[in-house]
Amino acid sequence: MPIQLLPISLANQIAAGEVIERPSSVVKELIENSLDSGADQLFIDIEKGGRRRIRIRDNGSGIDKDELALALARHATSKITSLADLEAIQSLGFRGEALASISSVSRLTLTSKPAQQTQAWQAWVEGRDMQAQLTPASHPDGTTVDVEDLFFNTPARRKFLRTDKTEFSHIDEMLKRIALSRFDVKMVIQHNQKVVRQYPAVAQERALERIAKVVGSSFSDTAEMVDNEHFGLRLWGWVAPPEACRHQGDVQFLYVNGRMMRDRLLNHAIRQAYGDTLGDDRSPTYVLYLELPPAEVDVNVHPAKHEVRFHHARQVHDFVLQSLRGVARGATSNVAPHQYQ
Ligand code: ADP
Ligand code: MG
Repeated sequence: MPIQLLPISLANQIAAGEVIERPSSVVKELIENSLDSGADQLFIDIEKGGRRRIRIRDNGSGIDKDELALALARHATSKITSLADLEAIQSLGFRGEALASISSVSRLTLTSKPAQQTQAWQAWVEGRDMQAQLTPASHPDGTTVDVEDLFFNTPARRKFLRTDKTEFSHIDEMLKRIALSRFDVKMVIQHNQKVVRQYPAVAQERALERIAKVVGSSFSDTAEMVDNEHFGLRLWGWVAPPEACRHQGDVQFLYVNGRMMRDRLLNHAIRQAYGDTLGDDRSPTYVLYLELPPAEVDVNVHPAKHEVRFHHARQVHDFVLQSLRGVARGATSNVAPHQYQ
């Protein structure tokens, strides 16, 4: 075959393969966009585990009519303009890929109204050239992205989808992670037209109320608070003392500069902080937030941004270990000090 450029829609579908694994990945990408737009209210409608519909409405800044088509194009982003921006990234997104990818494997409509615009507009793409069509619409300030029939045109992907129930449980899990990343954001979640979860916004001081709602009060009732700062690194959050740790590692939420992570280095540090108090059958149980200067961490390691790379990995590891050691070994106020003498 001669060398030829891929049609845009095919290039987008290939890119979608990296980030959009299943409905929950769509939910993640769309909500990250909503949060980046300053929204503090999210209405999430899921139908049939997300395969029929994923619709997210936010009250964020909205997208100008003139930029709607561009928002759907690949490598189009309002979040960075240079490599320097990427090194000091504050937003969750920056790749300019999500909407292009999702719209190439679904029927996507984007409806938006910035506060300064009197009329809302709607865009969708059709056909191989990914040219967006625009029509006037009715919508409050903010944005709705409606994703229908995910993977309708990529049967190989569709085949890997599980039952509606399983797909919804992945979405639910993703929404929990998001709910614990921003206490100040209200979330209302519907599945098949029924409200299945509601997370009202809470002030920072009342974060434990949301944690109780998301992961259950057996964690929030026993968890110890941690807040430690050292040389520009801060670790805060809650960890369960060893005796309250779970048998299954289902409460392990770790955020780095507001992004949920699975990080081997940090997992290792947390595990080590517990020492041998857990035995074989219990897992570290925590909701933790690590904050460090954006230039200290590279977020552009993985397309779905599940991983980061720390510039001073050893230092971060030791800081996490030191911050948690006391609490994680149970040497806290609820244990009489003489037991350790
Ligand atoms: P990225 O988030 O990496 O910039 P996306 O494809 O996810 O790329 O989104 C493209 C652009 O569309 C964003 O940079 C943003 O300007 C705009 N956008 C997407 N979703 C929203 C939203 N919910 N509210 C406001 N703007 C949005
Ligand atoms: Mg995005």
